[in-house]
Amino acid sequence: MLKINKLHKSYPIGDSSLHVLKGIDLSVEEGEMVAIMGSSGSGKSTLLNIIGMLDEADEGEYILDGVPIKNLTEKKAAIYRNKFLGFIFQSFNLINYKNAVENVALPLYYQGLKRKERIEKAMFHLKKVGLANWATHLPNELSGGQKQRVAIARALAANPKLLLADEPTGALDTKTSYEIMDFIQSLNDEGKTILMVTHEEDIANMCKRIVRLKDGVIMEDVFINQERASAHV
Ligand code: ADP
Ligand code: MG
Repeated sequence: MLKINKLHKSYPIGDSSLHVLKGIDLSVEEGEMVAIMGSSGSGKSTLLNIIGMLDEADEGEYILDGVPIKNLTEKKAAIYRNKFLGFIFQSFNLINYKNAVENVALPLYYQGLKRKERIEKAMFHLKKVGLANWATHLPNELSGGQKQRVAIARALAANPKLLLADEPTGALDTKTSYEIMDFIQSLNDEGKTILMVTHEEDIANMCKRIVRLKDGVIMEDVFINQERASAHV
């Protein structure tokens, strides 16, 4: 699904620079559910943003579904982003003035579907996350867990191959976090490849693999919960 070789990333800070990723090698196969862990500031979001083509590495190779990502034009990059990737964020990133079903329908705009088809498809995904009755409600009328469900439905609307999540439970209470993780696990059980960032051990332990970042490199990469994996493969 994706392969990264010797990836480096620095940010310019004043007259010097901050070397955040110092040679990351990572391969993820289809059907995996991977947690990227590490302390605050260890570069988890930086890595996820590069994988999500929201940011670019300074050095190294990144191949997504067989396509080398370097040197893609902005237009091509946008096409790949929409085709391959779905995003979930800690702060949900919903559009406040659009209701739930309109938020879910947003990625479908780029598929050239008519409004009626977009809304129908979005309703299907909203049902899947259990929010069919909330379709016409605005984000500020929803709980945190419901907002994240809308965001997950939106991330899935264009049927991406890879779902990327940056601290998806970071703004939720413990009970709601587990509900969201149960749902994300069920997506993985259906075959979706998932790569998520978290700093919470309990959340990472619900994945099938944990990759730990420290001082700009991967210091540990372990497979866990493989019985859950094999039960569905
Ligand atoms: P994490 O997600 O693990 O908390 P980040 O990837 O967000 O870490 O950040 C890693 C380091 O890079 C931090 O020290 C942060 O301050 C710095 N950083 C992140 N984004 C930028 C940016 N756009 N410009 C400058 N520094 C940044
Ligand atoms: Mg982060």
